[in-house]
Amino acid sequence: MIAKQREKPDELIAYELLSKRKQLSEQEKRRYRSLAKGFEGEVMFDTYLDKLAGEHIILKDLLIHHNKYCQIDSILLKNGKIYLFEIKNFIGEYYWDDDNLFMLNQVEIDNPLVQRDRAHSILRRLLQSLDIRLPLVSYLIFVNPECSIFQAPLDKQIILPTQMNRFIKQFPITANITSQEKEASEKLAANHIEHYPFNQFPSYQYDQLEKGIPCYQCGEMATYPQKQGIECRLCGNLEKGSEVIMRICSEYQFLFPERKITSTSIYNWSDGMISRRRIFRILQQYYEKKGEHRCHYFE
Ligand SMILES: [Zn+2]
Repeated sequence: MIAKQREKPDELIAYELLSKRKQLSEQEKRRYRSLAKGFEGEVMFDTYLDKLAGEHIILKDLLIHHNKYCQIDSILLKNGKIYLFEIKNFIGEYYWDDDNLFMLNQVEIDNPLVQRDRAHSILRRLLQSLDIRLPLVSYLIFVNPECSIFQAPLDKQIILPTQMNRFIKQFPITANITSQEKEASEKLAANHIEHYPFNQFPSYQYDQLEKGIPCYQCGEMATYPQKQGIECRLCGNLEKGSEVIMRICSEYQFLFPERKITSTSIYNWSDGMISRRRIFRILQQYYEKKGEHRCHYFE
């Protein structure tokens, strides 16, 4: 049972959208790559947890606060225990030396054990304050099979890519969810914080962004209008007009929540690729006129 789903972080969505419409700086590219890699690793780990036998509860991507904020990649409640997983999507070769992690070229990197132990300690204190008495066990998971880690300490609860399948299989298959686990998962889910107050977000302005319609399939700004919708010059993908309009409306709304959605604003955003009248018809059909609803448009 999944008590809390994973969602793509807003910052990552913003970079995905912006990278199609502007040249990202080197710093932005690094941040984008790191967010994308982190998210891919977490999703990869989800596919392992999908294979877990027996009953259990999973909470993905939990943001908690107990004196400090802490993002927890995955929590599993199973067999009377709470498991915390700190997931790393490293690619390449690394080695441990005296509890520090280095790349093969001897560059030391941020110690993921420190991150895991910080998460463990914040979660442990939160569990105490919520009167949850299940034991907490934390693991550091290197999930990507294209990663080799040498000299990993054996006593630090580190799971390497080659150990993943065996690690998942060692959980007993007969487990049932207990009321204590259920109650604990409900309390944890209720303590999830929706928005990290210090979230980083890329900065951009409307005028900096290229107008037009990125291809749904390959993401390139290489589309041109066709009778039924828009077609991509590069990959040949054809997308239906109504779907294109809905897609660029939600993109526009995400990037510029303070701007009004009108047939003219979306017409300009698409660089005139779809007629105002067609945009208006779709807005009429799928969006509420200005009113109570979040997705509204203006004439
Ligand atoms: Zn394309």
